[in-house]
Amino acid sequence: PESPPLLELRGVRAGYGAIEVLHGIDLVVPAGGIFAVLGPNGAGKSTMLRVIAGLHRVSAGTVLLAGREVNQAAPDELARRGLCLVPEGRGVFPNLTVEENLRLITHLGHRPAEIEQRAFTQFPRLANRRKQLAGTLSGGEQQMLALARAVVADPAVLLIDELSMGLAPQIVETLYGLVADVATQGVTVLAVEQFATTILGLASAAVVLTTGRVAMTGTPQQVDQELSGLYLGAT
Ligand code: ATP
Repeated sequence: PESPPLLELRGVRAGYGAIEVLHGIDLVVPAGGIFAVLGPNGAGKSTMLRVIAGLHRVSAGTVLLAGREVNQAAPDELARRGLCLVPEGRGVFPNLTVEENLRLITHLGHRPAEIEQRAFTQFPRLANRRKQLAGTLSGGEQQMLALARAVVADPAVLLIDELSMGLAPQIVETLYGLVADVATQGVTVLAVEQFATTILGLASAAVVLTTGRVAMTGTPQQVDQELSGLYLGAT
């Protein structure tokens, strides 16, 4: 039989208290490449990523990782099984140095020296700043650190929430260049963005969420064509 998709959502519903935000999401993410998740403010993109990462419970439906249901799995278990989230707003610890932020990954059983070497080889710009407090890095560097921290954990699936937030277009290009390198190394990337500009140029497939529903899935070209008819045209 065919092997199951790397990640699958079936009829996923989730919300906050009495308010449902995801109204039955069906999604199949095959292994390999960059899968873009697009949609306007409040569409439920972050909520969907948090559900996948085990940080938020579904109220109905199923999340499957390599064909196995993971609805009840804790975030750290999912991390050990290869799911890693780069949260919106970067999530680096401002009062820890670059190096110390990277060492936080050692709970997954990696050795600090190995982690730093890998991070600094892949993200050389961080190497010069290893003793700098993360809070004093530029926005782009902080995002790079968040990305580095996730990548050195050796994820199978990297979930990235609005990498571009608050950053200049040129920095976004650089960061997505790094994400594309990571994808080339065999990591499947699920990247949430509000605007289609950079991400559709790199993605192998895309989904558009509007108000907690899948408006469409398809190739980046198909999605790009449809987007003008939806709300995103002005990007
Ligand atoms: P954005 O791009 O603005 O982050 P999004 O597509 O990621 O949007 P979510 O952050 O998932 O959307 O939010 C979806 C809806 O859920 C919004 O209406 C939001 O107000 C609501 N919501 C998000 N977090 C909470 C929370 N902790 N408590 C209550 N409602 C929430």
